[in-house]
Amino acid sequence: MYYHSTRDKEQKVTASQAIIAGLATDGGLYIPERFPKLAFDWETLKDVTYQELAYKILAPFLDDFSEADLKECIAKAYDEKFDTSVIAPLVQVGATYHLELFHGATMAFKDMALSLLPYLMEKAIQLQGVEREIIILTATSGDTGKAAMAGFADVPGTRIIVFYPEGGVSAIQERQMLTQTGSNIFVRSVIGNFDEAQTAVKNIFTENQMRQLLANNKQQFSSANSMNIGRLLPQIVYYFSAYLQLVKSGQIMAGEAINVTVPTGNFGDILAAYYAKRMGLPLNKLVCASNENKVLYDFFETGTYDKQREFKLTSSPSMDILISSNFERLLYHVLDEDTARVNDIMSALETQGHFSVTTEELEKFIDFEAGYATEEQTRDQIKQIYEQTGYVMDPHTAVASFVASEKRQLTEKMVVVSTASPYKFPETVLQAITTEKVASADWQTALEQLHQISKMPFPTAIKHLFTATSNAKNTLQIADMRPEVERICLYQLESEE
Ligand SMILES: *Cc1c(COP(=O)(O)O)cnc(C)c1O
Repeated sequence: MYYHSTRDKEQKVTASQAIIAGLATDGGLYIPERFPKLAFDWETLKDVTYQELAYKILAPFLDDFSEADLKECIAKAYDEKFDTSVIAPLVQVGATYHLELFHGATMAFKDMALSLLPYLMEKAIQLQGVEREIIILTATSGDTGKAAMAGFADVPGTRIIVFYPEGGVSAIQERQMLTQTGSNIFVRSVIGNFDEAQTAVKNIFTENQMRQLLANNKQQFSSANSMNIGRLLPQIVYYFSAYLQLVKSGQIMAGEAINVTVPTGNFGDILAAYYAKRMGLPLNKLVCASNENKVLYDFFETGTYDKQREFKLTSSPSMDILISSNFERLLYHVLDEDTARVNDIMSALETQGHFSVTTEELEKFIDFEAGYATEEQTRDQIKQIYEQTGYVMDPHTAVASFVASEKRQLTEKMVVVSTASPYKFPETVLQAITTEKVASADWQTALEQLHQISKMPFPTAIKHLFTATSNAKNTLQIADMRPEVERICLYQLESEE
Protein backbone atom coordinates (compact mmCIF):
# COMPACT_ATOMS: atom_id res chain seq x y z
CA MET A 1 0.00 0.00 0.00
CA TYR A 2 1.34 3.39 -0.98
CA TYR A 3 0.35 6.86 0.14
CA HIS A 4 0.57 10.09 -1.79
CA SER A 5 -0.32 13.73 -1.27
CA THR A 6 -3.84 15.06 -1.94
CA ARG A 7 -2.06 17.58 -4.17
CA ASP A 8 0.31 15.30 -6.11
CA LYS A 9 -0.02 11.63 -7.04
CA GLU A 10 3.56 11.17 -8.18
CA GLN A 11 5.53 11.04 -4.95
CA LYS A 12 4.54 7.79 -3.30
CA VAL A 13 5.61 6.76 0.16
CA THR A 14 5.02 3.71 2.34
CA ALA A 15 2.89 3.76 5.47
CA SER A 16 5.85 4.12 7.82
CA GLN A 17 7.27 6.97 5.73
CA ALA A 18 3.90 8.74 5.72
CA ILE A 19 3.58 8.36 9.49
CA ILE A 20 7.04 9.81 10.12
CA ALA A 21 6.49 12.69 7.68
CA GLY A 22 3.04 13.62 9.05
CA LEU A 23 2.34 16.08 6.25
CA ALA A 24 3.44 15.86 2.60
CA THR A 25 6.15 18.35 1.63
CA ASP A 26 3.78 20.15 -0.78
CA GLY A 27 1.46 20.97 2.15
CA GLY A 28 -1.05 18.30 1.11
CA LEU A 29 -2.21 15.38 3.23
CA TYR A 30 -1.24 11.77 2.66
CA ILE A 31 -3.97 9.44 1.46
CA PRO A 32 -3.99 5.70 0.79
CA GLU A 33 -3.89 4.93 -2.94
CA ARG A 34 -6.87 2.58 -2.54
CA PHE A 35 -9.30 1.25 0.05
CA PRO A 36 -8.71 -2.39 0.91
CA LYS A 37 -11.92 -4.35 0.51
CA LEU A 38 -12.02 -6.97 3.21
CA ALA A 39 -14.36 -9.91 3.03
CA PHE A 40 -16.29 -9.25 6.23
CA ASP A 41 -18.27 -12.06 7.74
CA TRP A 42 -20.23 -10.12 10.33
CA GLU A 43 -21.47 -13.21 12.14
CA THR A 44 -17.95 -14.55 12.77
CA LEU A 45 -16.43 -11.12 13.36
CA LYS A 46 -18.86 -10.18 16.08
CA ASP A 47 -16.92 -12.23 18.60
CA VAL A 48 -13.44 -10.81 17.94
CA THR A 49 -11.81 -8.49 20.47
CA TYR A 50 -11.18 -4.81 19.74
CA GLN A 51 -7.48 -5.60 19.37
CA GLU A 52 -8.12 -8.40 16.86
CA LEU A 53 -10.47 -6.19 14.90
CA ALA A 54 -7.88 -3.38 14.89
CA TYR A 55 -5.30 -5.75 13.46
CA LYS A 56 -7.63 -6.95 10.68
CA ILE A 57 -8.45 -3.41 9.62
CA LEU A 58 -5.02 -1.83 10.00
CA ALA A 59 -2.87 -4.61 8.52
CA PRO A 60 -3.70 -3.93 4.85
CA PHE A 61 -3.07 -0.19 5.37
CA LEU A 62 0.17 -0.63 7.32
CA ASP A 63 1.64 -3.36 5.18
CA ASP A 64 5.27 -2.43 5.71
CA PHE A 65 4.90 -3.25 9.41
CA SER A 66 5.42 -6.92 10.28
CA GLU A 67 2.51 -8.84 11.76
CA ALA A 68 4.35 -9.21 15.07
CA ASP A 69 5.21 -5.49 15.25
CA LEU A 70 1.71 -4.32 14.44
CA LYS A 71 0.15 -6.73 16.93
CA GLU A 72 2.58 -5.56 19.59
CA CYS A 73 1.72 -1.89 18.95
CA ILE A 74 -2.01 -2.65 19.15
CA ALA A 75 -1.64 -4.67 22.35
CA LYS A 76 0.30 -1.85 24.03
CA ALA A 77 -2.15 0.80 22.86
CA TYR A 78 -5.45 -0.78 23.86
CA ASP A 79 -4.62 -2.08 27.32
CA GLU A 80 -5.57 -1.16 30.90
CA LYS A 81 -5.26 2.53 30.05
CA PHE A 82 -8.86 2.02 28.93
CA ASP A 83 -11.33 1.54 31.74
CA THR A 84 -13.32 -1.08 29.79
CA SER A 85 -12.10 -4.10 27.86
CA VAL A 86 -14.64 -3.31 25.12
CA ILE A 87 -12.51 -0.15 24.53
CA ALA A 88 -15.33 1.64 22.67
CA PRO A 89 -18.65 0.58 24.21
CA LEU A 90 -21.97 1.22 22.48
CA VAL A 91 -24.73 2.36 24.83
CA GLN A 92 -28.40 2.76 24.00
CA VAL A 93 -29.65 6.27 24.79
CA GLY A 94 -33.31 6.87 23.92
CA ALA A 95 -33.80 6.09 20.26
CA THR A 96 -30.10 6.25 19.41
CA TYR A 97 -26.90 4.42 20.28
CA HIS A 98 -23.93 6.30 21.69
CA LEU A 99 -20.50 5.06 20.71
CA GLU A 100 -18.46 6.09 23.76
CA LEU A 101 -14.93 6.94 22.70
CA PHE A 102 -13.84 8.49 25.98
CA HIS A 103 -12.72 5.50 28.00
CA GLY A 104 -9.00 6.09 27.44
CA ALA A 105 -6.34 7.87 29.46
CA THR A 106 -7.39 11.47 28.70
CA MET A 107 -11.18 11.01 28.43
CA ALA A 108 -11.65 12.11 24.84
CA PHE A 109 -11.79 10.29 21.53
CA LYS A 110 -8.29 11.47 20.63
CA ASP A 111 -7.08 8.59 22.84
CA MET A 112 -8.45 6.10 20.32
CA ALA A 113 -5.71 7.01 17.85
CA LEU A 114 -3.11 8.67 20.06
CA SER A 115 -2.74 5.59 22.24
CA LEU A 116 -1.47 3.82 19.14
CA LEU A 117 0.37 6.50 17.15
CA PRO A 118 3.48 6.75 19.38
CA TYR A 119 4.06 2.98 19.07
CA LEU A 120 3.56 3.10 15.31
CA MET A 121 5.97 6.05 15.17
CA GLU A 122 8.63 4.17 17.14
CA LYS A 123 8.37 1.14 14.82
CA ALA A 124 8.31 3.35 11.74
CA ILE A 125 11.51 5.07 12.88
CA GLN A 126 13.16 1.66 13.27
CA LEU A 127 11.81 0.40 9.92
CA GLN A 128 13.12 3.43 8.08
CA GLY A 129 16.39 3.46 10.00
CA VAL A 130 15.80 7.12 10.86
CA GLU A 131 18.51 8.46 13.11
CA ARG A 132 17.11 11.93 13.36
CA GLU A 133 15.11 13.00 16.38
CA ILE A 134 11.40 13.35 15.59
CA ILE A 135 9.86 16.65 16.67
CA ILE A 136 6.10 16.27 16.99
CA LEU A 137 4.65 19.69 16.26
CA THR A 138 1.02 19.99 17.22
CA ALA A 139 -1.77 22.54 17.47
CA THR A 140 -4.66 21.52 19.69
CA SER A 141 -8.23 22.67 20.13
CA GLY A 142 -8.10 21.05 23.58
CA ASP A 143 -8.03 17.27 23.46
CA THR A 144 -5.26 16.35 21.01
CA GLY A 145 -2.64 18.14 23.11
CA LYS A 146 -3.08 16.10 26.24
CA ALA A 147 -3.60 12.80 24.43
CA ALA A 148 -0.50 13.37 22.28
CA MET A 149 1.67 14.41 25.24
CA ALA A 150 0.50 11.44 27.27
CA GLY A 151 1.34 9.18 24.33
CA PHE A 152 4.74 10.66 23.48
CA ALA A 153 5.98 11.51 27.00
CA ASP A 154 9.50 10.11 27.33
CA VAL A 155 9.30 8.13 24.07
CA PRO A 156 12.98 7.88 23.07
CA GLY A 157 13.97 9.78 19.96
CA THR A 158 11.02 12.16 20.09
CA ARG A 159 10.11 15.50 21.56
CA ILE A 160 6.68 17.04 21.40
CA ILE A 161 5.61 20.68 21.16
CA VAL A 162 1.96 21.56 21.74
CA PHE A 163 0.27 24.92 21.11
CA TYR A 164 -3.24 25.59 22.38
CA PRO A 165 -5.38 28.75 22.06
CA GLU A 166 -5.28 30.85 25.24
CA GLY A 167 -8.82 31.01 26.64
CA GLY A 168 -9.96 28.58 23.93
CA VAL A 169 -9.93 25.35 25.93
CA SER A 170 -11.83 24.24 29.03
CA ALA A 171 -10.31 24.62 32.53
CA ILE A 172 -9.96 20.85 32.80
CA GLN A 173 -8.36 20.53 29.37
CA GLU A 174 -5.82 23.21 30.29
CA ARG A 175 -5.07 21.62 33.62
CA GLN A 176 -4.65 18.22 31.96
CA MET A 177 -2.01 19.69 29.68
CA LEU A 178 -0.21 21.67 32.37
CA THR A 179 0.06 18.67 34.69
CA GLN A 180 1.61 16.40 32.07
CA THR A 181 5.06 15.16 33.05
CA GLY A 182 7.89 14.09 30.76
CA SER A 183 11.30 15.50 29.91
CA ASN A 184 10.51 15.78 26.18
CA ILE A 185 7.24 17.73 26.31
CA PHE A 186 6.76 21.44 25.68
CA VAL A 187 3.34 23.05 25.97
CA ARG A 188 2.55 26.68 25.18
CA SER A 189 -0.65 28.70 25.01
CA VAL A 190 -0.92 31.25 22.21
CA ILE A 191 -2.82 34.50 21.93
CA GLY A 192 -5.10 33.54 19.06
CA ASN A 193 -7.65 30.95 18.06
CA PHE A 194 -7.15 27.33 17.00
CA ASP A 195 -7.17 28.14 13.26
CA GLU A 196 -4.38 30.67 13.71
CA ALA A 197 -2.33 28.21 15.75
CA GLN A 198 -2.95 25.38 13.26
CA THR A 199 -2.03 27.58 10.28
CA ALA A 200 1.17 28.73 11.99
CA VAL A 201 2.08 25.12 12.74
CA LYS A 202 1.49 24.12 9.09
CA ASN A 203 3.66 27.03 7.93
CA ILE A 204 6.51 26.17 10.28
CA PHE A 205 6.17 22.57 9.17
CA THR A 206 6.54 23.26 5.46
CA GLU A 207 9.05 26.14 5.63
CA ASN A 208 12.29 25.20 3.85
CA GLN A 209 14.62 27.16 6.11
CA MET A 210 13.15 25.48 9.15
CA ARG A 211 13.48 22.03 7.58
CA GLN A 212 17.12 22.77 6.83
CA LEU A 213 17.76 23.96 10.35
CA LEU A 214 16.29 20.77 11.76
CA ALA A 215 18.19 18.58 9.30
CA ASN A 216 21.45 20.24 10.42
CA ASN A 217 20.46 19.47 13.97
CA LYS A 218 19.69 15.82 13.09
CA GLN A 219 15.97 16.36 13.60
CA GLN A 220 12.78 16.34 11.57
CA PHE A 221 9.17 17.31 12.13
CA SER A 222 6.19 15.05 12.39
CA SER A 223 2.60 15.65 13.41
CA ALA A 224 0.21 14.20 15.95
CA ASN A 225 -2.72 16.08 14.44
CA SER A 226 -5.24 14.17 12.36
CA MET A 227 -3.32 15.43 9.33
CA ASN A 228 -1.10 12.41 10.13
CA ILE A 229 -2.48 9.31 8.41
CA GLY A 230 -1.28 7.31 11.42
CA ARG A 231 -3.92 9.05 13.44
CA LEU A 232 -6.72 8.71 10.96
CA LEU A 233 -6.45 4.97 10.27
CA PRO A 234 -6.92 3.75 13.88
CA GLN A 235 -10.18 5.71 13.95
CA ILE A 236 -11.70 3.46 11.27
CA VAL A 237 -11.68 0.56 13.70
CA TYR A 238 -14.31 1.82 16.13
CA TYR A 239 -16.95 2.23 13.42
CA PHE A 240 -16.59 -1.48 12.70
CA SER A 241 -16.66 -2.17 16.41
CA ALA A 242 -19.93 -0.21 16.81
CA TYR A 243 -21.49 -2.12 13.94
CA LEU A 244 -20.45 -5.48 15.33
CA GLN A 245 -21.85 -4.58 18.75
CA LEU A 246 -25.21 -3.86 17.11
CA VAL A 247 -25.10 -7.21 15.31
CA LYS A 248 -24.06 -9.04 18.44
CA SER A 249 -26.84 -7.58 20.58
CA GLY A 250 -29.40 -8.42 17.89
CA GLN A 251 -30.27 -4.75 17.26
CA ILE A 252 -29.57 -5.15 13.56
CA MET A 253 -29.23 -8.03 11.11
CA ALA A 254 -25.77 -8.68 9.70
CA GLY A 255 -25.48 -6.57 6.56
CA GLU A 256 -28.19 -4.07 7.55
CA ALA A 257 -27.25 -0.41 7.04
CA ILE A 258 -26.93 2.11 9.88
CA ASN A 259 -26.29 5.88 10.07
CA VAL A 260 -23.76 7.76 12.16
CA THR A 261 -23.75 11.32 13.46
CA VAL A 262 -20.31 12.73 14.26
CA PRO A 263 -19.52 15.94 16.18
CA THR A 264 -17.05 17.51 13.79
CA GLY A 265 -14.18 19.98 13.87
CA ASN A 266 -11.11 19.04 11.85
CA PHE A 267 -13.12 16.37 9.97
CA GLY A 268 -10.88 13.49 11.08
CA ASP A 269 -13.44 11.45 12.99
CA ILE A 270 -16.12 11.58 10.30
CA LEU A 271 -13.56 10.99 7.55
CA ALA A 272 -12.66 7.73 9.28
CA ALA A 273 -16.37 6.79 9.00
CA TYR A 274 -16.19 7.55 5.28
CA TYR A 275 -13.11 5.32 5.00
CA ALA A 276 -14.99 2.55 6.84
CA LYS A 277 -17.82 2.90 4.35
CA ARG A 278 -15.42 2.74 1.41
CA MET A 279 -14.02 -0.48 2.92
CA GLY A 280 -17.45 -2.06 2.91
CA LEU A 281 -19.02 -1.22 6.28
CA PRO A 282 -22.79 -0.83 5.71
CA LEU A 283 -23.10 2.85 6.64
CA ASN A 284 -25.86 4.81 4.99
CA LYS A 285 -25.63 8.50 5.91
CA LEU A 286 -22.66 10.13 7.59
CA VAL A 287 -24.14 13.09 9.42
CA CYS A 288 -21.70 15.93 10.02
CA ALA A 289 -22.66 17.86 13.18
CA SER A 290 -21.20 21.34 13.79
CA ASN A 291 -21.49 23.85 16.60
CA GLU A 292 -21.99 27.55 15.84
CA ASN A 293 -18.77 27.50 13.79
CA LYS A 294 -20.87 25.84 11.08
CA VAL A 295 -18.59 26.27 8.08
CA LEU A 296 -19.06 22.61 7.09
CA TYR A 297 -22.85 22.75 7.43
CA ASP A 298 -22.89 25.76 5.11
CA PHE A 299 -20.71 23.93 2.61
CA PHE A 300 -22.95 20.88 2.47
CA GLU A 301 -26.00 23.15 2.11
CA THR A 302 -24.66 25.56 -0.50
CA GLY A 303 -21.43 24.23 -2.03
CA THR A 304 -19.49 27.24 -0.74
CA TYR A 305 -16.89 26.93 1.98
CA ASP A 306 -16.19 30.32 3.51
CA LYS A 307 -13.84 30.62 6.46
CA GLN A 308 -14.18 34.40 6.51
CA ARG A 309 -16.57 34.74 9.36
CA GLU A 310 -16.54 35.38 13.05
CA PHE A 311 -14.70 32.67 15.00
CA LYS A 312 -16.95 31.75 17.92
CA LEU A 313 -15.79 30.39 21.24
CA THR A 314 -18.41 27.82 22.24
CA SER A 315 -18.99 25.29 25.00
CA SER A 316 -17.66 22.60 22.61
CA PRO A 317 -14.15 24.07 22.15
CA SER A 318 -12.67 21.03 20.40
CA MET A 319 -15.00 21.83 17.49
CA ASP A 320 -14.18 25.55 17.34
CA ILE A 321 -12.52 25.33 13.95
CA LEU A 322 -13.09 27.15 10.68
CA ILE A 323 -10.27 25.57 8.67
CA SER A 324 -11.13 21.92 8.77
CA SER A 325 -7.90 20.20 7.68
CA ASN A 326 -9.14 16.76 6.77
CA PHE A 327 -11.82 18.16 4.51
CA GLU A 328 -9.05 18.36 1.91
CA ARG A 329 -8.88 14.55 1.97
CA LEU A 330 -12.63 14.26 1.40
CA LEU A 331 -12.44 16.72 -1.49
CA TYR A 332 -9.79 14.54 -3.10
CA HIS A 333 -11.80 11.34 -2.72
CA VAL A 334 -15.15 12.78 -3.74
CA LEU A 335 -13.98 15.00 -6.59
CA ASP A 336 -12.71 12.05 -8.61
CA GLU A 337 -9.20 12.03 -7.11
CA ASP A 338 -8.36 15.09 -9.18
CA THR A 339 -5.24 16.62 -7.61
CA ALA A 340 -5.36 19.65 -9.93
CA ARG A 341 -8.86 20.46 -8.70
CA VAL A 342 -7.75 20.01 -5.06
CA ASN A 343 -4.82 22.38 -5.68
CA ASP A 344 -7.17 25.01 -7.15
CA ILE A 345 -9.54 24.72 -4.23
CA MET A 346 -6.85 24.84 -1.57
CA SER A 347 -5.14 27.85 -3.07
CA ALA A 348 -8.49 29.65 -3.38
CA LEU A 349 -9.10 28.93 0.31
CA GLU A 350 -5.69 30.25 1.22
CA THR A 351 -5.69 33.39 -0.91
CA GLN A 352 -9.40 34.34 -0.94
CA GLY A 353 -10.63 32.64 2.22
CA HIS A 354 -13.36 30.71 0.42
CA PHE A 355 -14.08 28.28 -2.41
CA SER A 356 -17.11 26.88 -4.17
CA VAL A 357 -17.84 23.62 -5.91
CA THR A 358 -20.27 23.33 -8.83
CA THR A 359 -23.80 21.97 -8.36
CA GLU A 360 -22.70 18.85 -10.16
CA GLU A 361 -19.75 18.43 -7.80
CA LEU A 362 -21.88 19.06 -4.71
CA GLU A 363 -24.16 16.18 -5.70
CA LYS A 364 -21.22 13.83 -5.32
CA PHE A 365 -21.22 14.35 -1.55
CA ILE A 366 -24.22 12.02 -1.43
CA ASP A 367 -22.95 10.04 1.58
CA PHE A 368 -23.13 13.10 3.80
CA GLU A 369 -25.80 15.08 5.58
CA ALA A 370 -25.14 18.02 7.85
CA GLY A 371 -26.65 19.90 10.74
CA TYR A 372 -25.60 22.18 13.56
CA ALA A 373 -26.60 23.09 17.09
CA THR A 374 -26.56 26.54 18.66
CA GLU A 375 -25.26 27.01 22.20
CA GLU A 376 -28.82 27.03 23.52
CA GLN A 377 -29.78 23.90 21.58
CA THR A 378 -26.66 22.16 22.90
CA ARG A 379 -27.50 22.93 26.53
CA ASP A 380 -31.17 22.02 26.03
CA GLN A 381 -30.15 18.71 24.50
CA ILE A 382 -27.96 17.84 27.51
CA LYS A 383 -30.87 18.68 29.81
CA GLN A 384 -33.53 16.90 27.77
CA ILE A 385 -31.61 13.65 27.37
CA TYR A 386 -30.69 13.72 31.06
CA GLU A 387 -34.31 14.20 32.10
CA GLN A 388 -35.63 11.56 29.70
CA THR A 389 -32.99 8.87 30.19
CA GLY A 390 -30.67 9.81 33.07
CA TYR A 391 -27.73 9.80 30.63
CA VAL A 392 -25.26 12.65 31.07
CA MET A 393 -23.28 13.76 28.03
CA ASP A 394 -20.61 16.30 27.24
CA PRO A 395 -21.32 19.37 25.03
CA HIS A 396 -19.57 17.95 21.92
CA THR A 397 -21.65 14.80 22.06
CA ALA A 398 -24.72 16.93 22.71
CA VAL A 399 -24.17 18.79 19.44
CA ALA A 400 -24.26 15.46 17.61
CA SER A 401 -27.18 14.20 19.68
CA PHE A 402 -29.19 17.30 18.77
CA VAL A 403 -28.39 17.01 15.08
CA ALA A 404 -29.21 13.28 15.13
CA SER A 405 -32.60 14.07 16.67
CA GLU A 406 -33.30 16.37 13.72
CA LYS A 407 -32.62 13.59 11.21
CA ARG A 408 -35.70 11.54 11.97
CA GLN A 409 -36.36 11.01 8.27
CA LEU A 410 -33.44 8.56 8.30
CA THR A 411 -35.02 5.22 9.09
CA GLU A 412 -31.91 3.16 9.77
CA LYS A 413 -30.49 2.86 13.30
CA MET A 414 -28.51 5.94 14.35
CA VAL A 415 -25.16 5.82 16.12
CA VAL A 416 -24.14 9.08 17.81
CA VAL A 417 -20.39 9.34 18.24
CA SER A 418 -19.72 10.33 21.82
CA THR A 419 -16.35 12.07 21.89
CA ALA A 420 -15.67 13.21 25.44
CA SER A 421 -16.50 12.41 29.03
CA PRO A 422 -18.88 14.94 30.64
CA TYR A 423 -16.22 15.27 33.35
CA LYS A 424 -14.06 17.21 30.91
CA PHE A 425 -16.67 19.99 30.79
CA PRO A 426 -18.36 19.94 34.21
CA GLU A 427 -19.32 23.64 34.28
CA THR A 428 -21.30 23.48 31.02
CA VAL A 429 -22.93 20.17 31.84
CA LEU A 430 -23.96 21.37 35.30
CA GLN A 431 -25.41 24.58 33.94
CA ALA A 432 -27.51 22.51 31.58
CA ILE A 433 -28.86 19.93 34.00
CA THR A 434 -29.28 21.81 37.26
CA THR A 435 -31.61 24.64 37.99
CA GLU A 436 -29.36 26.13 40.66
CA LYS A 437 -26.88 28.69 39.48
CA VAL A 438 -23.38 27.32 39.44
CA ALA A 439 -21.97 30.79 39.04
CA SER A 440 -18.18 30.95 38.73
CA ALA A 441 -17.74 27.54 40.33
CA ASP A 442 -14.11 26.52 40.07
CA TRP A 443 -13.42 23.25 38.30
CA GLN A 444 -12.93 21.28 41.51
CA THR A 445 -16.33 22.28 42.88
CA ALA A 446 -17.95 21.73 39.50
CA LEU A 447 -16.50 18.22 39.30
CA GLU A 448 -17.72 17.31 42.78
CA GLN A 449 -21.20 18.63 42.01
CA LEU A 450 -21.41 16.77 38.72
CA HIS A 451 -20.22 13.65 40.49
CA GLN A 452 -23.03 13.93 43.04
CA ILE A 453 -25.71 14.56 40.45
CA SER A 454 -24.67 12.08 37.80
CA LYS A 455 -23.44 9.35 40.19
CA MET A 456 -20.87 8.43 37.54
CA PRO A 457 -17.62 7.23 39.10
CA PHE A 458 -14.61 9.52 38.67
CA PRO A 459 -12.24 8.24 35.99
CA THR A 460 -8.63 7.82 37.16
CA ALA A 461 -7.59 10.78 35.02
CA ILE A 462 -9.92 13.05 36.98
CA LYS A 463 -8.74 11.83 40.38
CA HIS A 464 -5.21 12.62 39.24
CA LEU A 465 -6.12 16.23 38.38
CA PHE A 466 -7.04 17.02 41.97
CA THR A 467 -3.59 16.16 43.29
CA ALA A 468 -1.15 16.69 40.40
CA THR A 469 1.16 19.69 40.43
CA SER A 470 0.72 22.09 37.57
CA ASN A 471 3.62 23.44 35.53
CA ALA A 472 3.81 27.19 35.08
CA LYS A 473 1.85 28.47 32.11
CA ASN A 474 3.85 29.81 29.21
CA THR A 475 1.97 32.11 26.83
CA LEU A 476 3.13 33.65 23.57
CA GLN A 477 2.01 35.55 20.48
CA ILE A 478 1.30 33.70 17.21
CA ALA A 479 4.26 35.49 15.63
CA ASP A 480 6.54 34.09 18.33
CA MET A 481 5.64 30.47 17.64
CA ARG A 482 8.32 30.00 14.99
CA PRO A 483 11.23 31.35 17.08
CA GLU A 484 9.92 29.35 20.04
CA VAL A 485 9.91 26.14 17.98
CA GLU A 486 13.45 26.91 16.88
CA ARG A 487 14.52 27.50 20.48
CA ILE A 488 12.91 24.28 21.70
CA CYS A 489 14.48 22.25 18.88
CA LEU A 490 17.94 23.54 19.77
CA TYR A 491 17.37 22.97 23.46
CA GLN A 492 19.44 20.15 24.93
CA LEU A 493 17.16 17.60 26.60
CA GLU A 494 18.35 16.34 29.99
CA SER A 495 18.16 12.80 28.70
CA GLU A 496 20.65 13.71 25.99
CA GLU A 497 23.22 15.41 28.16
C1 LIG B 1 -11.36 16.64 18.37
C2 LIG B 1 -12.75 16.55 18.91
C3 LIG B 1 -13.87 16.62 18.08
C4 LIG B 1 -13.76 16.88 16.59
O1 LIG B 1 -13.17 15.80 15.91
P1 LIG B 1 -12.51 16.03 14.48
O2 LIG B 1 -11.89 14.75 14.14
O3 LIG B 1 -11.52 17.13 14.65
O4 LIG B 1 -13.62 16.42 13.55
C5 LIG B 1 -15.13 16.46 18.65
N1 LIG B 1 -15.27 16.27 19.98
C6 LIG B 1 -14.21 16.20 20.81
C7 LIG B 1 -14.44 16.01 22.27
C8 LIG B 1 -12.91 16.33 20.31
O5 LIG B 1 -11.87 16.26 21.14
